[in-house]
Amino acid sequence: MLIVQKFGGTSVGDLERIQNVANRVSETKKKGNDVVVVVSAMSGETNKLVGYAEYFSKNPARAEMDMLLSSGERVTASLLSIALQEMGHDAVAMTGRNAGILTDSSHTKARIEDINPNAIYKAVKEGKIIVVAGFQGVNEAGIVTTLGRGGSDLSAVAIAGAIQADLCEIFTDVSGIYTTDPRIEPKAKKLNAISYDEMLELASLGAKVLQNRSVEMAKKLNVNLVTRSSFSNEEGTLITKEENIMEAPLVSGIALDRNQARISLMGVKDKPGIASDIFNKLADAEVNIDVIIQNKAHDGMTNIDFTVPVSELHDAKKIVDTFVQSGDIADDSYNEDICKVSVVGVGMKSHVGVAAKAFSTMAKNNININMIATSEIKISMVVDEKYAELAVRGLHDAYELDK
Ligand code: ADP
Ligand code: ASP
Ligand code: MG
Repeated sequence: MLIVQKFGGTSVGDLERIQNVANRVSETKKKGNDVVVVVSAMSGETNKLVGYAEYFSKNPARAEMDMLLSSGERVTASLLSIALQEMGHDAVAMTGRNAGILTDSSHTKARIEDINPNAIYKAVKEGKIIVVAGFQGVNEAGIVTTLGRGGSDLSAVAIAGAIQADLCEIFTDVSGIYTTDPRIEPKAKKLNAISYDEMLELASLGAKVLQNRSVEMAKKLNVNLVTRSSFSNEEGTLITKEENIMEAPLVSGIALDRNQARISLMGVKDKPGIASDIFNKLADAEVNIDVIIQNKAHDGMTNIDFTVPVSELHDAKKIVDTFVQSGDIADDSYNEDICKVSVVGVGMKSHVGVAAKAFSTMAKNNININMIATSEIKISMVVDEKYAELAVRGLHDAYELDK
């Protein structure tokens, strides 16, 4: 088999753990498989580098950030390759560029445009174990880019797709996908399998166990994806097509996103094209908008509230300011002390009462819901940050996910 194995930050958190990873990779190789490994930076390393940059600037240039942050993954890739060589394997470490990962120029959240797998193919043919530094690629000009936080998952899935690997294993510090973050709710249950669509919702809504774009890519390229623990041999969770899942539960999981901020625009001139104007400018600045609420207009004025990732608040503010200056918006305010809790499940498509249960759970716990958004398979509620864990546990209980 041709297998891609990705190891996250905790799994390569210190030198002993890197040796553990080398042992596991070695075993896989000795069983007769071809292995391409993708590694993250050692845990905490990327944040440390971000902190270094923030010492000098509140808003450092994104191209410089990519140069800086991409270094973390190169450290682990080379160390793992050295460890494997020491064990007698023919191993080679590659940067994103060496592995043929071409991206657009959207620094710190670049999209993969193409993968040229020739270098990987060649090394596989020579019997080598390839160790790729995750989270990075290069743009057309050869300048290094990174793929967004958690982006090593995307590197692994994209490579697995490009080389048509038989399996892509994501090794992390939990033994699979749980009904909710097991760190918040110890009663959370591990799922044997989950559909791409549900996983995509969970990941997009804050379950950082997989980066959302990696799930999108896995679905698009039909990659056989398994999430499992690098610290045990326990079976993990298969992420697959909905039709491969025997018994789809009504609700599969609860996600929590603490990294959201709410922007309130007060006294927005109620005229055709204003919302389009504001949100187009935000889109041009690559700000990701999530839940949007617009109130009914009064005296030619309306209020619009929406949420953005905290990391994009700075860019969003700059744009909102231009509308305040031009007089199209009377006033604006910002709140970072919010979070978004979401209930996800394909079973919702065919059942009523799922949303009602979510709302009454909030009521029972005395939690005020600030905003609501729904889709076919999810219900999201924006609540005050201080209720985050209470809300998650309440919902986990209400849908009996521990059963
Ligand atoms: P890695 O460094 O391996 O990429 P991450 O820290 O990015 O690992 O993701 C793993 C973490 O995701 C777990 O430690 C867990 O706290 C969190 N998590 C959030 N939601 C879930 C979920 N539904 N199932 C499993 N883990 C989850
Ligand atoms: N090291 C990067 C991060 O911390 C990428 C990754 O770990 O997937 O976001
Ligand atoms: Mg991760």
